[in-house]
Amino acid sequence: MAAHSAIHIERINKSYGDFRAVSDLSFAVQHGEIFALLGPNGAGKSTTIRMILDIIQPDSGRIAVFGAPLTDAARNRIGYLPEERGLYKSVPVLEMLVYLGRLKGLSGSEAKKRGLALLERFELAEYARKKVSDLSKGMQQKVQFAVTILHEPDLIIIDEPFSGLDPVNRLVIKNLLLEFRQRGGAVVMSTHQMNQVEEMADRMLMISRGQQKLYGPVDDIRRQFALHAIIVQGSGDWSALPGVVRVEPGSNGRDGVTLHLAEKTTADDVLAEIARSRNTRIEKFELAIPSLEDIFIRVAGKDGGQ
Ligand code: ADP
Repeated sequence: MAAHSAIHIERINKSYGDFRAVSDLSFAVQHGEIFALLGPNGAGKSTTIRMILDIIQPDSGRIAVFGAPLTDAARNRIGYLPEERGLYKSVPVLEMLVYLGRLKGLSGSEAKKRGLALLERFELAEYARKKVSDLSKGMQQKVQFAVTILHEPDLIIIDEPFSGLDPVNRLVIKNLLLEFRQRGGAVVMSTHQMNQVEEMADRMLMISRGQQKLYGPVDDIRRQFALHAIIVQGSGDWSALPGVVRVEPGSNGRDGVTLHLAEKTTADDVLAEIARSRNTRIEKFELAIPSLEDIFIRVAGKDGGQ
């Protein structure tokens, strides 16, 4: 593995006129990890991504990609999937892949070989000679993803990778991303789909109004927001258990009820009580760790999106 981070950002700032879109932001993305960049609309995610790609420049601060300021050679090691998907609609799919692959430094034959392999993988082989415009929206999205990884980049930056995809195709893309990480690739994923972040991302940065709100391993952040409560499912008089101060019916479509615990009561204490009690039966017992969605709303909701 490389000694340096895939991306290293130190105290960057960016203003548009008087408006500060990104404020004193620092973070790093490592090789072999999926990193989620989160925040409400207008938080500064695209601005940050565009600075990483050197499309726009920060007013101050430092950005290193693969250990140095971005060069053309390093740019060819990045795959970028922007939110607004621009494909050449009237060009046949494979021809377009070859063209874009060559722009990224591949030979024509290499681009064709890899393009075909990816189309195969995406179950689009029979569409290789069809025009992009003849493909469904979901298929076009897969082609766009093929363009992003065609040149076997070391870093991919993707904006809402799963929007517009059905569950089967979401899984195809998800597996590709997991394989990419397995091989040591770095993924920066900007998304509003928190369940995808919970399932896939190793670490995350949540920004709001251009500033860091949360940064670190996804599991740590979720645990940090853990309530002093447990979720149980089963039958029994929960409120009669010693140490349970309040029983909250299930919410957010979750199964079971939430037992809020007295300050000195631990989850282990409650479990022991349940084991002791004759008329209580449990099917599920877990710590009440809020979903990222809840955390997002709690943290970013205060600031309000745009
Ligand atoms: P996000 O990607 O998180 O939705 P952006 O980075 O696109 O947020 O935008 C951050 C803020 O900067 C928003 O308030 C947006 O209106 C503003 N902004 C973005 N680009 C420009 C621009 N070129 N000129 C002026 N303001 C901009």
